[in-house]
Amino acid sequence: MATTFIDKARITVKAGNGGNGAVSFHREKYVAAGGPDGGDGGKGGSIILQVDDHMSTLMDFRYKRKYAAQSGADGSGARKFGKDGEDLVIRVPMGTLVRDAETGEIIKDMSDKEPFVLCRGGRGGWGNQHFATPTRQVPRFAKAGSPGESHDVILELKLLADVGLVGFPNVGKSTLLSVVSRAQPKIANYHFTTLFPNLGVVWVADGVSFVMADIPGIIEGASEGAGLGHDFLRHIDRCRLLVHVVDVSGSEGRDPIADFDTINAELKQYSPELATRPQIVAANKVDIMEDPEQLEKLRAHVEALGYPLFEISAAAHQGTRELVGKVAEQLSALPPITVYEPEYVPRPPVVDTSAPLDIQRDDDGMWIIEGRWLQQLMANVNFSDYESRMWFDRQLRDAGVYQQLEDLGIQDGDNVSFEGWEFEYQR
Ligand code: GDP
Ligand code: MG
Repeated sequence: MATTFIDKARITVKAGNGGNGAVSFHREKYVAAGGPDGGDGGKGGSIILQVDDHMSTLMDFRYKRKYAAQSGADGSGARKFGKDGEDLVIRVPMGTLVRDAETGEIIKDMSDKEPFVLCRGGRGGWGNQHFATPTRQVPRFAKAGSPGESHDVILELKLLADVGLVGFPNVGKSTLLSVVSRAQPKIANYHFTTLFPNLGVVWVADGVSFVMADIPGIIEGASEGAGLGHDFLRHIDRCRLLVHVVDVSGSEGRDPIADFDTINAELKQYSPELATRPQIVAANKVDIMEDPEQLEKLRAHVEALGYPLFEISAAAHQGTRELVGKVAEQLSALPPITVYEPEYVPRPPVVDTSAPLDIQRDDDGMWIIEGRWLQQLMANVNFSDYESRMWFDRQLRDAGVYQQLEDLGIQDGDNVSFEGWEFEYQR
């Protein structure tokens, strides 16, 4: 059964690369040798997630799966900086869990209005203006910008509601929500019910309110994936309390006790923990009840299990105030809505340092060393930081690069360029 409600999506996001630094020399009439004046590259734009209250599904992500932020522009002469790339803001519904696609670990639970930086833009490279040194007046190198981060992630919507409505299709869940809140869910007398979860804010009294979610009905076998409902159960994972709606009218020949037990068995199969969530039973459609004895049997059954029961008629607005009052009272004693802690810890990229590097010597006697892994390694080094430089030094030593240079005859004081960064060699 195809549903139009999309509450899970896999997307690829990529932050912008940093722009390259420029190699340029100051030129002016009558000035013989201008100094280096290459400007820096701009920062790459970041990928930012932001909750949008008007979104209730992840539908947009079905049509667009790749998101890239703008790269920084390259620097240019006359010390001109490249323009920073613009951040890309991706809007998601409240309650979206962001998971690492590979491990499934939670990166972030988007459950508040704080923007979240999912991928950082690359740093802009330095122009050659930075590389003028007393000994090297004509720096012909500039640094490349570093790449922006990228990530494959899974977005998974888990609604943020205090109360979840559960029960068979057609028992009156959507009607109840529409009566106690301003939500306008689809109400229909057929067993295929709501395809979209609906959220409504229920105002109880001054300053007291809660959020109620109407999710598509659970049907038998749903927790084994047999039909609609299974996918939707995740939306009540966070709920602090469940209102279990049971049709006691007998109008459809249903057995209220069997219905109640079936739904609870489904919940338990999906999640034993969810089955222990506090429940309040709403015995609905009492306005057209054919056999009051059914109601009393159900009452005895659920009360023996420790659940309170309220007789209501959602359609006739009967008993709904009492029900809502009880919900608010219970909520006040319950812990807040679950917010999931991040599990994902970013791992530094694994750089395979076993591949040989390209080592050359230019006419000035400078050792030019280049290679893919060296580039990757250097993207993670902050050369203005001592610890970071020491780490870089150790990586080169461990990879045997210094030994190789020694074998080629390098001397103390020789100039060495690693991917455009110049150093003086010291043993
Ligand atoms: P849901 O599938 O559980 O969301 O059920 P709906 O709210 O869509 O209601 C299913 C049908 O039952 C609709 O025709 C409603 O008008 C009807 N209904 C809901 N509550 C009551 C009630 O208290 N009394 C009566 N007589 N009908 C009701
Ligand atoms: Mg419904």
